[in-house]
Amino acid sequence: MRHPVEGKNIVIIGSGIGGLSAGILLSLLNFKVTVVEKNPLPGGLMRSYRRAGIDCPVGVHYVGALGEKEPLGVMFHALGIPVDALFVPMGQKGIIDRYIFDDLTFDLPANIDALEDSLRKTFPQDKKSLKIIMANLRKISRQMVDPSFLFTQGNPFQNMDDYLPMGELLDSLGVTAGLRAVLAVPCNLIGVPLSDCPVIFHHMVLASYLFSSWRLKEGGSKMTDIFIRRFEELGGKLILNDGVKKISSANGKVNGVILESEKTLFADGVVTAIHPKILLQLLGTDVLRDPHRRRIQGLTETEGVIAVQVSVDAATHPAINNNIYRLNRDSNGVIQDGVFYQVQGTNSSGVNLLSMMTKSLYSDWSPWENTSTGKRGQEYEEMKMNIAQSLLKKAEEIFGDLSDARILDVYTPLTIRDYVNAPEGACYGIMRSSRQLLKAVSLNNLPIPGLCLAGQNAIAPGVMGCLFGSFNAARQIIGQERFAHAIKWDTQKR
Ligand SMILES: Cc1cc2nc3c(=O)[nH]c(=O)nc-3n(C[C@H](O)[C@H](O)[C@H](O)COP(=O)(O)OP(=O)(O)OC[C@H]3O[C@@H](n4cnc5c(N)ncnc54)[C@H](O)[C@@H]3O)c2cc1C
Repeated sequence: MRHPVEGKNIVIIGSGIGGLSAGILLSLLNFKVTVVEKNPLPGGLMRSYRRAGIDCPVGVHYVGALGEKEPLGVMFHALGIPVDALFVPMGQKGIIDRYIFDDLTFDLPANIDALEDSLRKTFPQDKKSLKIIMANLRKISRQMVDPSFLFTQGNPFQNMDDYLPMGELLDSLGVTAGLRAVLAVPCNLIGVPLSDCPVIFHHMVLASYLFSSWRLKEGGSKMTDIFIRRFEELGGKLILNDGVKKISSANGKVNGVILESEKTLFADGVVTAIHPKILLQLLGTDVLRDPHRRRIQGLTETEGVIAVQVSVDAATHPAINNNIYRLNRDSNGVIQDGVFYQVQGTNSSGVNLLSMMTKSLYSDWSPWENTSTGKRGQEYEEMKMNIAQSLLKKAEEIFGDLSDARILDVYTPLTIRDYVNAPEGACYGIMRSSRQLLKAVSLNNLPIPGLCLAGQNAIAPGVMGCLFGSFNAARQIIGQERFAHAIKWDTQKR
């Protein structure tokens, strides 16, 4: 969208954190905003779900940089979302993540100085390379707290070297396999392999957790409730259980949406906080021409996961304040596979929740590709349970005897696909790899007046990426100059 929107009515498609944060921001900027959601409940991947009375996470396990002067904290403040009501800091024992490899256990410490210290001690042979890598990481951390990053031109990263793959940088520095494997983990958090992960995204993800790391106090449904409350108190309107089936337009300009219920909502601008391939299905072929369509259709997705939620006895398996990754790497330091674990307290006394996640290819579930959630049949359930049982068995190597543990739920890429309309059940949307970065970036500049993108496919995935996307969408809608002025005014009130 090249020109600011003329008029005040905005429709946002999708009520995930991308749609809701864009809704709050645009309401603060005095737009009349309606968020439309296909599901009966709002929140998308941010929302948790209940099994046996226990809140189970989907898409918010931990977030970084929520401190008062840190990028996510500053954006939450601008939205009027109270951090302390929702999150607790991690890392009190000095560790955010524990990476367990066959031959090495590495604890990711809670700040950048401690990381440098720890990497130097663990990988003395990499002293020279670490000097370069850490200087770069510090540079990008500094840029992330520069107010211009969020509020004015939006992109202080002018150095093209930052868009090269992290794997290439490590090759050129000739790092050891051990260091390569440790530095590969942050790439997993945006779903891009190290060999193709732009240095900038690697560093932003790692830096954000080193600023500070946080977990939800009460789960994603509470987080969703607080976002909804804020949106509605600013006058925003939420329509649930009625998906958008068409984005309408006149003379090449978007002018509203048509819902599944056939209701029409007129709008001066439409923000789509959904997957761009789903967006294509909603747009007439006269609005977006073939070359653009083909480019979007051809974008590679990030991978899916299988996630298993297990209730465990709290006395035997106390909550752990850091995350645990069990990882397998090859002799070159390339991570082959891994499992993510969290053990957290629950609202049921005496019971803790063990969450486990590992990569799962969409193609592994192809026999059920044409089925929908709840109707996939016995064989699918058996395959899910077999994988869950073997993950549970493997988890005993870390947590000890889990024979009393109870599997509460298992979800697959097909579950995510159906739940939020994510092609191939991708966790992090399209892949922001160096290889397809230009195509991914061009999504932000669709040649359709009145339409712009928010959500994890706009700028970057994750809670922080989605908020960057919402700030960017608001900037496009109101125009750069007015946005900088309005937001500056707001932050001065801090
Ligand atoms: C398993 C998993 C673990 C993750 N862990 C973390 C983590 O620990 N930390 C972190 O920061 N990020 C994490 N992420 C990523 C993070 O959850 C996402 O980046 C973020 O929630 C995406 O938000 P969104 O608003 O872009 O999309 P979504 O949450 O997918 O929201 C899109 C919404 O649009 C709705 N919709 C789709 N089509 C239509 C239509 N036609 N009409 C109306 N509504 C429609 C969907 O139903 C959905 O509610 C994780 C993701 C996954 C899947």
